[in-house]
Amino acid sequence: MISVARPQIGPEEEEAVLAVLRSGMLAQGPEVARLEAAFAAVCGVAHAIAVSNGTSALFLALRAHDIGPGDEVITTPFSFIATGNSILMAGARPVFVDIDEQTFNLDPEQVEAAITPATRAIMPVHLYGQPAAMDALCAIAERHGLVIIEDAAQAIGAQDQGRPVGSFGTGCFSLYATKNIMSGEGGMITTNDPQIADRLRLLRSHGSRVRYYHDFLGYNFRMTDLQAAIGNAQLAKLERFTERRIANAAFFDQTIRHPQVRKPFARPGVRHVYHQYTVRILGDRDEAMRQLRAAGVDTAVFYPLPIPHQPMYRALGYDQSLPVTERLSSQVLALPVHPGLNNEELAHISEAVNALSLETSEVLSR
Ligand SMILES: *Cc1c(COP(=O)(O)O)cnc(C)c1O
Repeated sequence: MISVARPQIGPEEEEAVLAVLRSGMLAQGPEVARLEAAFAAVCGVAHAIAVSNGTSALFLALRAHDIGPGDEVITTPFSFIATGNSILMAGARPVFVDIDEQTFNLDPEQVEAAITPATRAIMPVHLYGQPAAMDALCAIAERHGLVIIEDAAQAIGAQDQGRPVGSFGTGCFSLYATKNIMSGEGGMITTNDPQIADRLRLLRSHGSRVRYYHDFLGYNFRMTDLQAAIGNAQLAKLERFTERRIANAAFFDQTIRHPQVRKPFARPGVRHVYHQYTVRILGDRDEAMRQLRAAGVDTAVFYPLPIPHQPMYRALGYDQSLPVTERLSSQVLALPVHPGLNNEELAHISEAVNALSLETSEVLSR
């Protein structure tokens, strides 16, 4: 079975972890500092703050900007649950607006229409590794005095008009095992603002600047040196991994030809890093998954249910229709695109997709 995600682990990661184990210093230390410096360089920002995971990165970014009860944050309904939940965790209210059908990302016009006096921030997600429309979103934020918190969990190395994601606002990344680079679990926050960076460093460590003296309520959301050692080994391979993903996606773009399979659209001027290569199945998606699985190709649906339609959001009173997100939720299918695929596997995936035999449905073939 060709798996849809596979962490790329080599001797570099193994040796780096062993070195930390042998050093006897396992918690936040020099490996974390090294990872932060390298991450800031990749994103072209002044500061990077390592944290325990991508969810805590989003939550702490909101807290560092003092966003909480009474505040609204406009975001996308078509994302992993952590996007919305980080806003709830901070005590603020997520406001979901429908997305652009071509890019699967926030539609700036709908964002602007949703701004109220309570709006404090916009949280775009660079879904599947494609930057959201940052020019337009930054202009809106500027006009209305809003903070931009980028959910860049899937998009390390991506660029919009030559500018790296994570540098448009406060950037939040995940180093979860299946992300483009990983540390098992891990997160990173990027910013050019020295005050936000300072607050983040305190927030991740019990509000403490001087050991055992605490200025305000913080948390223990630190990263360990064991994780950072893996992250450093991975970051050294980021460009190679990213080039492979882009080449794999280009291969699918060229070779997948099926009237009921719509290939992903990359907005002109972006560097899409293909965390996922997500096609739309204009037909019975469950049947497509079954046929691909029978051909030895694993696939996945990111995401089958819009965030505000999740039971926990229904229970909070969310009840809005999101036609584009709902349609895409029923159509999207992620094919394996990770850098561990060889040429035979790539050709096999493409052939298996082209061989799909699906009944047409009038509703779905729009
Ligand atoms: C993975 C992910 C997160 C959360 O990151 P964790 O490290 O799993 O907490 C948030 N948003 C998006 C879009 C993600 O893909």
